[in-house]
Amino acid sequence: MNTTEHCTAEDCQREGVSSIDGSALCRSHFIDVCYSRLERYEEQRKAQKLCVADADSMRHFINECSRQADEIEQQSKDLDNLERAKLVDIILSASELGRHLRRSPRKAVSIPVHLCCERLGGAWEEDSKTVLLSRYGASVQVSHPAKPGECIQIERFDTGQKAQARVAWQRPGDRDTVRIGVEFVDCDNFWGLDWAAIEETR
Ligand SMILES: [Zn+2]
Repeated sequence: MNTTEHCTAEDCQREGVSSIDGSALCRSHFIDVCYSRLERYEEQRKAQKLCVADADSMRHFINECSRQADEIEQQSKDLDNLERAKLVDIILSASELGRHLRRSPRKAVSIPVHLCCERLGGAWEEDSKTVLLSRYGASVQVSHPAKPGECIQIERFDTGQKAQARVAWQRPGDRDTVRIGVEFVDCDNFWGLDWAAIEETR
């Protein structure tokens, strides 16, 4: 990042050495912001009040905060022991949080779906089947590459239900296909499964 930017915390004159959500932060405000965010996310997670958008921003934050905490910890020559301990603590808490996020149950179910991506200049449609389902999305095998962040409409052949989803990740699949993970934008429990029961039987 551009280190000539000033820390965006109120009344702080120090130089920004990191950024969270695009706001430059000095080392000490970076630590403060990470701690308060981690605490808030942890409470939300425990209260099970996480929607897809939360999980999304949580993932983004986890990446951003652990990468930078690590950089600061490696590269700062004037860290005191307390700051170093806090940075390490932030990295550990963030990875713990990430572990919980990924723990949302998955179910291997093949449901025929029609996917429709309306990307400008590269729109495509395809019939496919789900590989894994989660409460918040699914992974699907497709022959069109899709970039993380792109919007895709999913339609179930069996029920005719439609939902908007966003591509969360992509990786090579079998033969000429790719596997994409999608997360619903506007739909809770699209698959109509009793996720609480699935969670319990794990
Ligand atoms: Zn500051």
